[in-house]
Amino acid sequence: MINTDQQPELAAIREYMVIDGQPCTDGVGRLPVFNPATGEVIAQQIEAGPQQVDLAVQAARRAFESSAWRASLPATRERLLLALADRIEAEGESLARLETLNNGKLLAISQMLEVGASAQWLRYMAGWATKITGDTLSLSIPFPPGVKYHGYTQPEPVGVVAAIVPWNFPLLMAVWKIAPAIAAGCTIVLKPAEETPLTALRLAELALEVGFPPGVINVITGRGEITGAALVAHPDVNKIAFTGSTEVGKLIAHAAVDDMKRVSLELGGKSPVVIMDDCPVDLAIQGAAGAIFFNQGQVCTAGSRVFIQDGIYDQVVEGLAAAADSLKMGSGFDGDTQIGPMISARHRDRVSRYIDEGRASGAQLLAGGQTWQGAGYFVHPTVFANATPDASIVREEIFGPVVVAARFQQEEDAVRLANDTRFGLGASIWSNDLARVQRMVPRIQAGTVWVNTHNMLDPSMPFGGYKQSGVGREHGRAVISNYIETKSVCIAYPDSV
Ligand code: NAD
Repeated sequence: MINTDQQPELAAIREYMVIDGQPCTDGVGRLPVFNPATGEVIAQQIEAGPQQVDLAVQAARRAFESSAWRASLPATRERLLLALADRIEAEGESLARLETLNNGKLLAISQMLEVGASAQWLRYMAGWATKITGDTLSLSIPFPPGVKYHGYTQPEPVGVVAAIVPWNFPLLMAVWKIAPAIAAGCTIVLKPAEETPLTALRLAELALEVGFPPGVINVITGRGEITGAALVAHPDVNKIAFTGSTEVGKLIAHAAVDDMKRVSLELGGKSPVVIMDDCPVDLAIQGAAGAIFFNQGQVCTAGSRVFIQDGIYDQVVEGLAAAADSLKMGSGFDGDTQIGPMISARHRDRVSRYIDEGRASGAQLLAGGQTWQGAGYFVHPTVFANATPDASIVREEIFGPVVVAARFQQEEDAVRLANDTRFGLGASIWSNDLARVQRMVPRIQAGTVWVNTHNMLDPSMPFGGYKQSGVGREHGRAVISNYIETKSVCIAYPDSV
């Protein structure tokens, strides 16, 4: 028998979907779920076909139209989100361990971000439920004579939301979609990535336990091209909230256009880290290493291109390569592990292919690059330098622990190199020269520019992409508008009795 005292995460595994508040085991097939640190199968997930997708969307539709949800007080939705945050924290250890088991990430990151930040985001968004307001408008309609007008805007929930999320921060990404959608009064069908369905399934149950009505939050599982595509195509979905690769984001935008579903897209990146020569070398090395190797480089804003000013280039590159070599790889459950596995065998092979292409392109390999001998899907932290600007390691999102360093002379060159990409998600500038920073920030084409830090997010800070990194913003006041339709109301009345 499984000892769930020692492995509390095992008790939280669910092998069914949650539709209309009920477990659902119907589907078009079963897919294995893996532990990426060992390659072992830990669970089977259902693959939802069009029929189950329809059940979930109809459940969300019924819940949306029900008087219980439609007329729910904003304060009720606020309380539900706060209660869910508390429940996530109460089950924090088991959820964090489940995430590390399924995703491979370090347990400390699961505790801090998947659990801690999920609770933080839910609480922040709970506050928005009672603060969504319209405007009173000063209308100047001059006719007919004797008539005046009163105008105002009324924000209304957009309706049934289809949310599709990736595997790199599974629980947190689910919360990033669910929390603002609920604050705005929507209902939701969430499809987690096929690699990491487990914490989202448990989240759906926790939501029911704290009192969310059945059908308000539904979680279905399966592959993108089967379950995700059916969800995106469903005519009763009003809005698609997608986080994932730019390639799939484009497919989704095309699919949504037929019936003009609302779409927000949080997509890929190839984020620059720009290090100016006034930056202390130790800080630069630490900053550049953290920007790329955090979460094994499986971060949409990973600092995968590092530009270093000539004066400190050699020291920083040498330090970055030494830092890469020193990182201890292993299971996310081991306290001294610094780099966990890639999410899947397929993704490990994809990252390794880029490393091979980098070598073949003539780039200089300064750290990593060797094949992992052992179980699990590990890739050694890898540092390249002197790559040609058109090499795939420079141009494409690798989504792994692979960084390319390059030298620049002038501020002007740094801006040009940083912007030389089809992406525009994040960027960081490392300098204590205020004037330099002030000059550069407005010229960097990215949704977030960090200064002397990288990858830091906050629920109050809008987040999203310029260029091919996406459409729309998450977090802060900005994300609420993704889940709102604005109705203008214009009332005519006679000017005199
Ligand atoms: P992916 O695009 O392959 O998959 C993302 C999700 O889309 C998964 O749930 C998948 O099942 C689904 N999907 C795939 N094909 C689909 C289709 N045809 N129709 C509907 N759904 C489909 O991405 P991934 O490999 O899971 O995640 C990595 C990517 O996500 C990277 O590009 C990364 O930059 C991006 N990402 C972006 C952000 C952000 O906020 N901008 C955050 C995290 C990850």
